Amino acid sequence: MATIVQKFGGTSVGDTDKIKRVAQGIKQRMDEGHKVVTVVSAMGKSTDKLVELADEITEDPDPREMDMLLTTGEQVTISLVVMALKEIGVDAVSLTGWQAGIVTEEVYQDARITDIQTETLDQHLNEGKAVLVAGFQGVSEEGNITTLGRGGSDTTAVALAAALDAESCSIYTDVTGVYTSDPRYVKNARQLSSISYDEMLELAYLGAGVLHPRAVEFAKNYNVKLVVRSSMENVEGTIVEEEASMEQNLTVRGLAFDDNITKVTVERLPNHYDTMSNLFKLLSEEGINIDIIIQQMTSDHGINVSFTIDSSKLGKTMDLIHANRETLCYSEVHHESSLSKVSIVGSGMISNPGVAADMFKVLAEEEVAIKMVSTSEIAVSSVVPEKDMIRASEALHSFFGLDAQEQEKIELAKQA
Ligand code: ADP
Ligand code: ASP
Ligand code: MG
Repeated sequence: MATIVQKFGGTSVGDTDKIKRVAQGIKQRMDEGHKVVTVVSAMGKSTDKLVELADEITEDPDPREMDMLLTTGEQVTISLVVMALKEIGVDAVSLTGWQAGIVTEEVYQDARITDIQTETLDQHLNEGKAVLVAGFQGVSEEGNITTLGRGGSDTTAVALAAALDAESCSIYTDVTGVYTSDPRYVKNARQLSSISYDEMLELAYLGAGVLHPRAVEFAKNYNVKLVVRSSMENVEGTIVEEEASMEQNLTVRGLAFDDNITKVTVERLPNHYDTMSNLFKLLSEEGINIDIIIQQMTSDHGINVSFTIDSSKLGKTMDLIHANRETLCYSEVHHESSLSKVSIVGSGMISNPGVAADMFKVLAEEEVAIKMVSTSEIAVSSVVPEKDMIRASEALHSFFGLDAQEQEKIELAKQA
C-alpha cells in the first residue's frame, strides 16, 4: 500500500463546505487503496487575522508567543477535517506538528525542519486511519513550538513525503498549477506542464508565492515527486521534477517579482579589509536579511555600499546604522523605498549569453529605470520602481515568448 501526502492551502479550506470537500477527496484516495497523510493550512486568511491581533497589542511581539499564536490557525483546520471525515465514516486522527514528530531548530517564525520522527504517523497509518497534520509548525529540541515561515505548510508536506518515502506529494491550491508568472497579475501567464526543481527553486526564492522555497529544496534533495494542482477543478497540474521536458526551446521559463524592497546606501566608508564584515555582521546579528549588495570605490578612495532589504526592516536598519556611526565611520546614509525586483528564470540561460542584455533592452524600451542588478547561473533580476513592476513584467513575459498567444503561435508553426 503506497503512502501519498497531499496539502491543502488556506483558500482550499476557507469554509466548512470546502473542508467537507477535502474530506471527500481524502476518502476517495483511501478507497483507491492509499495510505493518506494530509497537511492543511489555517482557514482562509486566518493567519493574517492572528498577526493583526498581535499587532493590536504590541509593535514588537515576543517571537515565542507569536509562534504559539500562529500555530493555532492550522490546529482549527485539522480538527474540523477529522470531524468531517468521521461524519462520512472514515477513521481519522489530527496531529499538531510536534505530535507528528516534526523537530525544528529553536528559531521562531522561520525555523528549519531538522528531523521527522515518524513512529506516531506510521502507527496511525498502519491502523488504517487518515492522518491530518497541521502545516507550518514543529517543535524544537528544547520543547518550544516553532513555525516554518509564512507559506510553510508546503514544506511540512514535502518534508513528510520525504520522511515517509511517499509515492507523491500533491500541493492543492487556488490555481491549476505553476504558471510562467503569477496569473493574478500577469494577464498572459500560461500554465507549465512541468518545471525543474532548480527553476522552481529560483522562482520561489525570487517571489513566486505558489510554493514555499524550502518545500522545493526538500523535494530536490530527497527526489520527492511534487505536483501542484487545483483544489477546485479536476485538471492536470504541474509536475516539479529533476529534468523538466522542454515544451519549447525557450531560454526563459518563468518570471517572478517581489515588491516592498528598499535600497540603502552607506557613503564613504573606510577602505579597510573589515569594513564590509563590520557593516553586514551588525545587520545580520539583528536578523536583517540582505539581498543584493553593490560596493563601489569613491574618487577619494573610500567605498560606497548599497544593499537591498525588505521595506518592513527599514526603521530597524537605519536605527542600527545611525547608532553605529562612529564605529562604522561613514559620511552619510540614505535610502530609496517603493522598489521591486523583477526576475527572469530559465536553465537555458547557462548556454545562452545575452539574456541580461535583452532584459535591459526591454526595460529601456519601456522607460523603466534599473536601480540594481543581480544574476545567478539561471536567473537575472533587476530592481525597478514598484510602480513599474507589473508593466515591466508583462513586457518581459511577452518578449521572452512566455505569453499564452506565443505558445499558440509555436504550436501552429509546428503543425504547418
Ligand atoms: P495556498 O494558500 O494554497 O498555499 P498561495 O496563495 O500560497 O496558496 O499560492 C497560490 C498563489 O500563488 C496563486 O493564487 C497565485 O496568485 C500565486 N502565484 C505566484 N506566482 C505564481 C506562479 N508562477 N504560478 C502560479 N501561481 C503563482
Ligand atoms: N498559515 C500559514 C500562512 O498563512 C502557513 C501556510 O499557509 O502555509 O502563512
Ligand atoms: Mg502557499
